[in-house]
Amino acid sequence: MLAAMPPSPSKPRNGGDPHIQDRAGDPVRTRARDRGDACPGALRLHRADDGGLARLRLPTGSLTPAQVEALADAADLLGDGHLGVTSRGNLDLRGLDEGCGGALAERLSAAGLLPSPAHERVRNTVVSPLAGVDGRGHGHAPAWARELDALLCAEAWATALSGRFLFALDDGRGDVAGLGGDVTLLAEPGGRALVRSGGHTWRGAAPDAPRAAMALAEAFLAVAGARDSGAWRVADLAATGTAPAAGATETGRGRDAAAGPGADRTTGPADALRDLGEAADACLHRAAVPAERTAPEPFPRSGPPDPGVVAGGRALSVTARLGRVSSSQFRALLPAGEVRVTPWRGFVVTGLPDRAAAAARLAALAEAGFLTRPDSPWLRVGACTGRPGCAKSLADVRADVRPPEPERYGGLPVHWSGCERRCGHPQGAWVDVLATGDGTYDITVRDNSAQR
Ligand code: SF4
Repeated sequence: MLAAMPPSPSKPRNGGDPHIQDRAGDPVRTRARDRGDACPGALRLHRADDGGLARLRLPTGSLTPAQVEALADAADLLGDGHLGVTSRGNLDLRGLDEGCGGALAERLSAAGLLPSPAHERVRNTVVSPLAGVDGRGHGHAPAWARELDALLCAEAWATALSGRFLFALDDGRGDVAGLGGDVTLLAEPGGRALVRSGGHTWRGAAPDAPRAAMALAEAFLAVAGARDSGAWRVADLAATGTAPAAGATETGRGRDAAAGPGADRTTGPADALRDLGEAADACLHRAAVPAERTAPEPFPRSGPPDPGVVAGGRALSVTARLGRVSSSQFRALLPAGEVRVTPWRGFVVTGLPDRAAAAARLAALAEAGFLTRPDSPWLRVGACTGRPGCAKSLADVRADVRPPEPERYGGLPVHWSGCERRCGHPQGAWVDVLATGDGTYDITVRDNSAQR
């Protein structure tokens, strides 16, 4: 029987001292993180004020009709009757009773949603949600997602990735390439693909891209482990200096590659990313993935699919208001060929016969409470859980949230948060509405584009 897992250990592996002195006596920050990530999973539940929280990764972004039914049933029978959609296209179940972890795991496993319990938190992938549906892009992303997930679940070392390490698989249209993936694949014309991590870019054959992504993930673990940085993500490497490799922790087969350049000296952030590139070259070579380094050109950029009928009537796109749906709303997405969950807290329903049928379904989903029009002011607004679900919150954020006036804040996305963690905030430029007390908020425009 599957069982829920205990929370990850929080004791620092370095005994609690994350800093050393460099040769000049100045402190050099050596560890990006002093504990394992506490991101919830389907088996490792987070205890929230409103009960247990489970997070299910959907590495292909796609659900069969039977899986939609299974998740709606799980929400009704074990949770609070709702599902949350995260900014990575994962699904949350909340209000879970203590001790129901085993029953939830059994249901998810029976639905084919837990192929490898040991890997369930590291299957973090976002995929272009209209790939292969609307005739745009180059068609490789869904196949990449299936192959990458199978490769991840087959490798024991991959369980050392954090629950936050993200793969972004973009079919070439540039929608998920801008979501801050630690490893990003971008399909190109002519059966080619770009592979990017830590500011380094390689070009290779599209069929090799999933194996290239694995090589880059392995290189990240090797560099993070050899430097004992505690990094959860590539940006953590970029944000810290590195210590000499003495006492480094062996985390994967790529350690030897990472322990070469710079392993015996104290270095800075640029060196950590340089080492990542060199380790990636070594891992790609060992995996026999032909890929050549290329200049880091800007990726194309496009936005999320607009709500409405798409693909000439063969599919439709809807968004969940504030990223949360009831189980009955979730079931209303059926019948469908498949239901794709988007990293913009929405759903793409495929398998519709024609435009008239799609328009009728769209009207029904609007009636069910989904956002179905591109001019809805709610599309620009997100909110964290807030009170009463989160003990850290200073306010009942979701009760307070209001959509902005259309021209306000230059059209930027707006995110309401109950505390300074700002869970689920958007990438790029956005408006930060931060609780300062019960019903009072500070409003600031922020831009984290440079952090990607
Ligand atoms: S931003 Fe703060 S209040 Fe909101 S869910 Fe996250 S931890 Fe809780």
